[in-house]
Amino acid sequence: MWDETQAVARPATFELIGDQLAVRWENGHESFYRPEDLRAHCPCALCKTQRAKTQAQQPDPLRLLTPEQAAGAAMRILAYEPVGRYAVRFIWEDRHDTGIYDFRLLRSICPCEACR
Ligand SMILES: [Zn+2]
Ligand SMILES: [Zn+2]
Repeated sequence: MWDETQAVARPATFELIGDQLAVRWENGHESFYRPEDLRAHCPCALCKTQRAKTQAQQPDPLRLLTPEQAAGAAMRILAYEPVGRYAVRFIWEDRHDTGIYDFRLLRSICPCEACR
């Protein structure tokens, strides 16, 4: 499990490899994220609200996002761009782009064996 007391993690490189996002961190650690996992952690208000509603079994009548989309099913990352010096934003296949992923968040959801 990733330790919050570690120095603030900074990515050295970002790369899209197939559908996956590969991040190499400054300390040499490498993370490979599946898009559905990243999307499931989208920190924007819309996705947080949608996830809360999904958990409460109350589908959004406006259907801004389906539960599947909120869960990140089969959603590709089209592009990404840095936000300031501390975060990255993804542009998703459905043009969703309001989620700003703080590097700490990104680091904390590394799915590799060592981090879990
Ligand atoms: Zn979102
Ligand atoms: Zn890891």
